[in-house]
Amino acid sequence: MLDQFLAKIIAIHSPYRLDRLPQWVANKYWNPILEIDRWVFAKIEKADRQCLDEIQQKRLAKILWLAKNRTAYWKDKIAGDPHKYPVKILRAVPLFTKEILRSNNLNVFVNQEVAGWRKELISTSGTTTTPCFFYCDRLSFLRLEAEMKAIQGFKYNDNLARINLNFPPYRPLGKIFLFSLVTKLVENATNIELFLRENKPTHIFGQTTSILELASILDNRGVKYPFARVTVVGEHLNREDKKYLEKIFSCEVFNIYVSREAAGPIAYECQERDGWHINAISFVVEILDENNQAVPTEKEGNVVVTMLENEVMPFIRYKIGDRGYLVDKPCPCGRQSPRLFFKGRATQFFKLKNGNTHPLVSIVGLVRDFTPPVIQFQFEQQRIGEIIVRLATLENISEECITNILHAAKERFLDQLDVRIEINEKVPGKNILFINKLE
Ligand SMILES: [Zn+2]
Repeated sequence: MLDQFLAKIIAIHSPYRLDRLPQWVANKYWNPILEIDRWVFAKIEKADRQCLDEIQQKRLAKILWLAKNRTAYWKDKIAGDPHKYPVKILRAVPLFTKEILRSNNLNVFVNQEVAGWRKELISTSGTTTTPCFFYCDRLSFLRLEAEMKAIQGFKYNDNLARINLNFPPYRPLGKIFLFSLVTKLVENATNIELFLRENKPTHIFGQTTSILELASILDNRGVKYPFARVTVVGEHLNREDKKYLEKIFSCEVFNIYVSREAAGPIAYECQERDGWHINAISFVVEILDENNQAVPTEKEGNVVVTMLENEVMPFIRYKIGDRGYLVDKPCPCGRQSPRLFFKGRATQFFKLKNGNTHPLVSIVGLVRDFTPPVIQFQFEQQRIGEIIVRLATLENISEECITNILHAAKERFLDQLDVRIEINEKVPGKNILFINKLE
């Protein structure tokens, strides 16, 4: 109990106050600080709801106060004293969107009193033609990284490989391993085997697509490499793909819900793997309808996130572009935080013109066979016998590639499925692989 009390105090007040210290202190002492934060997270994540709410509300009050008093944009959008009724005040704040972010000078969102070295300029995606820029807080990376470490259940000797995930400063977790997807298959396979032999990673962590590629490369070469744990971020991993990864890597696969803007785990799967627990220490998650009103639990809506760690550029009520619903029932794992579910989770089947149903994995595999480095894709069925494939890729997609997909689909589904391909800079609602509008 004393442990938890101490953890709670640290979670609320961050007594080491690195933000007041010069950068060299942060550079030198990030590791012990990370360990403190990891200990705090592990203690708090299983605390009772009252404790979680208290931490969340105190931290929310702090970020609201900071936004109101130190940024130009939020000054007149946050009414009243955040320290008195943080939740009530939050609910009256207008939503923050990518469009607002794009159409303003970044400086209006920035905390005017924050130390310059904490500002890290990030863009939403290196692939977009009109990237969306924003600032992250270098100091918050530490706490978020500590949370990642706790969530992935790291032990002292564990060794993480981050697959195709670069990280900004104070992202000390693991070794980065980069390989280009799909292209240069043979070269990749040799490099991957060499990397595994030399580094002996116990855990891997990366975008769903990268991890699936890695698995298929190893599978093709007949290489078996058991991991203690595999963690995927980015697009939602469907059940079939999860099974496949678990077969190749001989371990359980967990999903963490992250976004570039959040820079850390908004929600994560526990050992039950039945929904994502909200990370209530660092984020407030709301589910809102089209009129931006809160929907009851277990009703679907837009996911809106307030980020409690980024003190450089507060993100308050940010419409992140995903849809989901919250379940607020006890989870057998003992964590009391509500769980987030994304829409489209259980129904991974689409319908052909003749009424037959097919598992989504069949069309996923087909698209994957013909596309260049796909970073995100999404499928949507609006009408029986037709499927929309949305792609956002690292490279331009050639006419030939599109023809190949269409041709393969025609052969595979015997003219019973029309495939429409849309190429976007970003796939909307990136955590949803399949949107089924037939239901
Ligand atoms: Zn749980």
